[in-house]
Amino acid sequence: MRLFIGVWPSREMVAEVQEFIRSAASGSTGLRWVPPENLHFTLRFLGEVADERVAGLTEELQQAATGCRPFPLTLGKTGFFPNVHSPRVVWLGVEHGTKELAHLAAMVQTVGSEWGLEPSGQRFQPHLTIARVARGALPMFVPGKEPRFQSTTTVTSFSLIESRLQPGGSVYRSIADFVFPEDRPIDS
Ligand code: ATP
Ligand code: MG
Repeated sequence: MRLFIGVWPSREMVAEVQEFIRSAASGSTGLRWVPPENLHFTLRFLGEVADERVAGLTEELQQAATGCRPFPLTLGKTGFFPNVHSPRVVWLGVEHGTKELAHLAAMVQTVGSEWGLEPSGQRFQPHLTIARVARGALPMFVPGKEPRFQSTTTVTSFSLIESRLQPGGSVYRSIADFVFPEDRPIDS
């Protein structure tokens, strides 16, 4: 199955991004907006993984999560892949939590590589994809005004997510959520 590892934004963040998309969509052309249920931060794209390997991978990720701690994540400025001049992807950057998210991505890279999955080869750029350029379109992205996002996602887990490519767009499903242990005071 087609898999990737990612972090889901909070409801509050999804709502705020939806609002931003709504305002940007009215002035923009040639873009396919990401539906709210698909909004996510990618940690690592795995691609096709044989079904019989998923249980082992899950165990490994579960183990990795025990070393993680919750952290707050907030959104930053808009960005474009591969660049602003010929964008294919429009995304929102991360303001607070960049270091922690990069740390998570590096950890997940290690697990993936131990599983013989190809390293992604790209430098990790924390981002939340909000739109893709429609095929053959000359896109125009009009953000209205540069957003100032207020919402926070307290990252308390990451997820192994299945992506099914459908004619209407990909459909994601969490296969497993790896919850971080809370810091607890030592019993006295
Ligand atoms: P669609 O391909 O239908 O536009 P999608 O890109 O959201 O939808 P997938 O291609 O399954 O669906 O990708 C799942 C996640 O992995 C997305 O965050 C996507 O950006 C990322 N991803 C996909 N392919 C790669 C790749 N080759 N390298 C790095 N990340 C990737
Ligand atoms: Mg894709």
